[in-house]
Amino acid sequence: MQAFYADHFVLPLPSGHRFPMAKYARLRERLAAELPGVQLAQAMPASDGELALVHTPAYIDAISRGSLSAAAQREIGFPWSPAMAERARRSVGATLQACRSAMAGAGLAANLAGGTHHAYADKGSGFCVFNDFAVAARLMQAEHARMHRAREALRVAIIDLDVHQGNGTAHIFASDPSVFTLSLHGAKNFPFRKEPSDLDVELPDGCADTEYLEALEQALGELERRFEPGLVLYLAGADPHEGDRLGRLKLSFDGLEARDRRVMDWAWRRRLPLAFAMGGGYGHDLDDTVQVQINTYRTALEYVGHWHNAAA
Ligand SMILES: [Zn+2]
Repeated sequence: MQAFYADHFVLPLPSGHRFPMAKYARLRERLAAELPGVQLAQAMPASDGELALVHTPAYIDAISRGSLSAAAQREIGFPWSPAMAERARRSVGATLQACRSAMAGAGLAANLAGGTHHAYADKGSGFCVFNDFAVAARLMQAEHARMHRAREALRVAIIDLDVHQGNGTAHIFASDPSVFTLSLHGAKNFPFRKEPSDLDVELPDGCADTEYLEALEQALGELERRFEPGLVLYLAGADPHEGDRLGRLKLSFDGLEARDRRVMDWAWRRRLPLAFAMGGGYGHDLDDTVQVQINTYRTALEYVGHWHNAAA
């Protein structure tokens, strides 16, 4: 399974900044040491043309040149620097490459970062600069149309299980019937003004494994009744974990592993390629966050094995 990283492009943060930038390198190092089935590759940057499938030229330009207002930088939560702009492009590029790999026959592939679901077409927010899933959905649709001269657009299901609502993604695809946005999230968590997804499931503070997995089961059932995708983009946020500083939910390691398995199994049974990204994760102990993510990769490798055996 291919997995793409961009953690060499470290953006300078003021000391004491609350974003856990170290988790990306730690995940890559542990994947390299523990899961040899994961083939790590450095992500290419997304181009202006790719970003413009979703983002306004003025916003892309402001990120590229560093002409964002102070207020816009505050809303993103990162100060602008050339490294910040480069990292944002690479983070989108990693998801694009993961989608291509999954769709080319691997079945599953991943971005070690990404899942930047708070970014809108014309602004960033909540540690998200560009919206990687939105750009990926549009680019895969364009490549699919070109390759197959297809009459029907590739239909993309976005399954967003980060603990925060995918507000940017929901807004971008609000009037696009070819992309289904599903978000399971904490009702009382950021963003406090949510955008309507095609399907939103709000969870109470303290929600634990059983309640969460039942809600997921119902949501996947409804997704299936309403939409027939050709590609799944899965945001496997680690922040519903009980050890998270920001999550407010109480999922265990086992509960999160069952969550990942349920989504990957759902996609596999329908033979749907699935690309996944890591999204949020703010553990009191960063090793807990990385452990949740490692477990996601371990489960994904099982399903890659199914795809491989089916092809052989
Ligand atoms: Zn989150």
